[in-house]
Amino acid sequence: MTSTRDAVSAPAAGQDAQQDTFDSLDPRTGEVIASYPRHTPEQVEAVVARARRAARWWNDLGFDGRATKLGAWRRLLDARRDELAAVVSRETGKPMDDARIEGILALDHLHWAAKHARRVLGPRNAAAGLLMINHKATVEYPPMGVIGVLGPWNYPVFTPMGSIAYALAAGNTVVFKPSELTPGVGTWLADSFAEAVGDVPGDINADAVFQVVTGEGETGGALCRAGVDKVAFTGSTATAKKVMATCAESLTPVLVECGGKDALLVDADADLDDAAAAVVWGAMSNAGQTCVGVERVYVVDAVAEDLLDRVAARAAQVRPGGRPDSPYGPITMPSQLGIISGQIDDALSRGGRAVVGGPGSVRAPYVDPVVLADVPEDSSAVTDETFGPTVVVNRVRDLDEAVERANASRYGLGASVFAKARGHEVARKLRCGMVSVNGVIAFAGIPSLPFGGVGDSGFGRIHGVDGLREFTRPLAISERRFRSVNVMTFDRPNWVVKVLAKLVSVIYGR
Ligand code: NAD
Repeated sequence: MTSTRDAVSAPAAGQDAQQDTFDSLDPRTGEVIASYPRHTPEQVEAVVARARRAARWWNDLGFDGRATKLGAWRRLLDARRDELAAVVSRETGKPMDDARIEGILALDHLHWAAKHARRVLGPRNAAAGLLMINHKATVEYPPMGVIGVLGPWNYPVFTPMGSIAYALAAGNTVVFKPSELTPGVGTWLADSFAEAVGDVPGDINADAVFQVVTGEGETGGALCRAGVDKVAFTGSTATAKKVMATCAESLTPVLVECGGKDALLVDADADLDDAAAAVVWGAMSNAGQTCVGVERVYVVDAVAEDLLDRVAARAAQVRPGGRPDSPYGPITMPSQLGIISGQIDDALSRGGRAVVGGPGSVRAPYVDPVVLADVPEDSSAVTDETFGPTVVVNRVRDLDEAVERANASRYGLGASVFAKARGHEVARKLRCGMVSVNGVIAFAGIPSLPFGGVGDSGFGRIHGVDGLREFTRPLAISERRFRSVNVMTFDRPNWVVKVLAKLVSVIYGR
């Protein structure tokens, strides 16, 4: 039994001397944590070929067999929760508890996907309809084969697991390219899967079911070209366009989860303390590096000053740092610091005011909380994804104006509404994929809810029923049960269509 894992997937140890490598860094200190292979197109192709050989075995296990294996993995992830959190914390700089929360949420999704795959994807009868009454109709959802997953660094466990867990539960094998900032997390996840699944009979290796390739954008592009059956991409809108262009060469389908500019709307009857807590945590946690983080607040005039006071009081108490118990850590990707500064400057130069912090809050690698108010809607602080611990609070006449402004963004990922009377009604008017009413980002912790966006935030869904179906091909089967008059033959008598037309007029023409 030969394992390409040693040659291709593992970092440093067992590596070919010629293998080009790149470093993973601790963003708090800039220290090198480890080196990982920069996988070439040929190596990526070999990994995908190996995944394809394992796909048959994995699919043949059936829903129950896969649920057993995924359950073993879930238990191992639970037992090693702190070890995984430490790997996440080192590569992203985020505090240990935030890293633990990611792992916990991922476990919940893994459990849901494995438990519900049979109900959602198993064969079911469909109504054949009056015209085809002599047929039995069934639909089922076989796996696509091999899924390529391209992941970001900001939630390096939770985000890719939204594709990996659901793709595996549906019967696919997976090749994952984690972000070049978090290769250690991806490698750890694949190693833990192989360990949990254990020995497999025959010439299939358990570690071929879920493999990792490492590298930067070139390796990601190679995965798109390697003959996978679908690419599940999570990252920036600009990269999504490149991924789609590459996938277009081979008509490889893509699932696209991109950034956002999520709004939080506050009505006059809202619990303002809850709303303020949600604004500060939603905007600042993980240093604001959350695709569904709160970046804009629209609050009705009547309570605007009160909300701002409460937001300011809370935000002023939050101080980032590199300790395991800091409220949030550094900006993981140094190039983001310039974007954050640029947006603060733009907001202030156009008449916005800094209620907490300001340009001096950016002190690499950390950014202190920044609360901006009354910022013109065409400022980049309002129009572009910030990915930093800053938030814009703008006042509006009423909730309808808040909806209008929230919907004016080219992004449409998530949103929050704080209101007593109109919360649900307003949630339904927002142009986005997910809304939390009187909460923030709550939808992400509910595995049965689909997750994804519209516009520049992407398309397709992870999580829930839709997330399982995303990695399958709907298979429709019609089966003749008994002979009757057949229209779909050159042998049909001339009267058949006339009779059929009369029948249809009687039924549908009224
Ligand atoms: P990114 O776009 O820079 O990279 C994402 C992944 O794509 C990485 O693995 C990267 O190596 C790979 N990649 C880069 N160039 C490529 C190419 N030409 N072909 C193929 N792959 C390529 O994003 P990032 O900086 O890692 O992540 C931050 C972004 O992700 C933010 O915009 C954030 O909002 C978004 N995000 C979205 C969600 C969501 O679910 N919608 C979740 C987390 C993060």
